[in-house]
Amino acid sequence: PAAPRRKCLLGNWKMNASLDGNAALLAAVGQSLAGLDQRVQWGVAVPAPYLAQVRGLLDGTPGWLGAQDCSAHEAGAYTGETSAAMLREFGCRFTLVGHSERRSLHGETSATVAIKARQALALGLTPVVCVGETLAEREAGQTFDVVKKQLSVVIHEVGHCVGELIVAYEPVWAIGTGLAATAQQAQEVHAALRAQLAVATPRAAQMLLLYGGSMKPSNAAELLSQPDIDGGLIGGASLVAPDFAALCQAAA
Ligand code: PGA
Repeated sequence: PAAPRRKCLLGNWKMNASLDGNAALLAAVGQSLAGLDQRVQWGVAVPAPYLAQVRGLLDGTPGWLGAQDCSAHEAGAYTGETSAAMLREFGCRFTLVGHSERRSLHGETSATVAIKARQALALGLTPVVCVGETLAEREAGQTFDVVKKQLSVVIHEVGHCVGELIVAYEPVWAIGTGLAATAQQAQEVHAALRAQLAVATPRAAQMLLLYGGSMKPSNAAELLSQPDIDGGLIGGASLVAPDFAALCQAAA
């Protein structure tokens, strides 16, 4: 049988950061997580201007540095964009791609998200591919179709690299609402995504599938105990040091 998957908890700070705040948050997180079980990996996806600072703050900790997005382009006349090569140069280990806020507020299509994932992989960054249905889609019984379609575009774009992706299932209705999916709702989507990945790669059983959407200390243990939930992508609670530390500890 394959080795058990390592749990992985990634904070998504979104557009919340300041030099002083970052230092205080990561000092507290680092201290709380000093003795953390080595089978748990943690990391933070930070706004691009803070990459250099946070790289320094994470130095000497096992925490992964990540970005929240990367450009679909390699380099050139793309005002406002940050390339995967730039993220790599600043020490990023991963980047989110296709977060629902990028899809809904910035018009990113699954095709764009897939190209971003490919760009990230080409530079040695792990793309954390976010998928998830809206409330209307869930109520219409379309959840599985929607998330599988979002993922399939990425699977086709990245070819033999599929096994290097991290996938985050984030139901849009659960993001920032305080209302997380139930452990059963999340598990059944994760199982479907893993089955879809298994068609594309022999590494599906080793791949990390994270849940995101109002994960917090009160619901983490149950979500993280599900067989196909390998960790979390955490927004609000990643900005509160004791909460983020508690989530990482719940995964151990
Ligand atoms: P939340 O955000 O934990 O605040 O719901 C999760 C996310 O958007 O990644």
